Amino acid sequence: MSSCNTISVIMGDIVDQEVDAIVNAANNSLLGGGGVDGAIHMAAGPQLLEECRSLGGCPTGEARITRGYSLPAKHIIHTVGPVWQGGNAGEDLLLADSYRSCLELAMEHEIRSIAFPGISIGAYGFPVDRASVIAVSSIREFLQGTELLTDIRLVCFNQNAYDNYSSAVDRIFND
Ligand code: ADP
Repeated sequence: MSSCNTISVIMGDIVDQEVDAIVNAANNSLLGGGGVDGAIHMAAGPQLLEECRSLGGCPTGEARITRGYSLPAKHIIHTVGPVWQGGNAGEDLLLADSYRSCLELAMEHEIRSIAFPGISIGAYGFPVDRASVIAVSSIREFLQGTELLTDIRLVCFNQNAYDNYSSAVDRIFND
């Protein structure tokens, strides 16, 4: 990691993050759902759904960007992580694709600060120990090519997620 990049793991609600972009763990329709997706749509307001309707969905591993509407964040980057199917259906690569797609879109939009939820670790059932290592490794690899992203936050909604993402950051960034 360059000295200009900062990655942090925090406990909190992603909708409260004052960053250039928050990431939504959406589904293929991009038309809203439960979990973090529902919380983001609720907090951003109904104009978000209108803009999402115009996008025509999103394949797993890709990402799309919208405005943030009523959120403190200016943008929302919607990505679709893989549904866990036991680990032999390309889930690891698809999860890494999701993180990379979000970071690529962030670069295109000159985003400096970005907050991620634990993509796929909720309803999609990805084991959090494995997901956290993939998340942090993907971010680290991406950061080696840029100094523009100065504030990357991994926002955890429960203690178990916090413990897993924290230990992944400790191991992967301090090796
Ligand atoms: P997925 O379908 O990708 O698994 P979920 O929304 O079900 O997505 O869960 C992803 C993670 O987001 C879970 O760890 C869940 O606890 C967490 N989460 C749910 N609501 C919020 C929120 N408001 N802010 C941050 N994280 C949240």
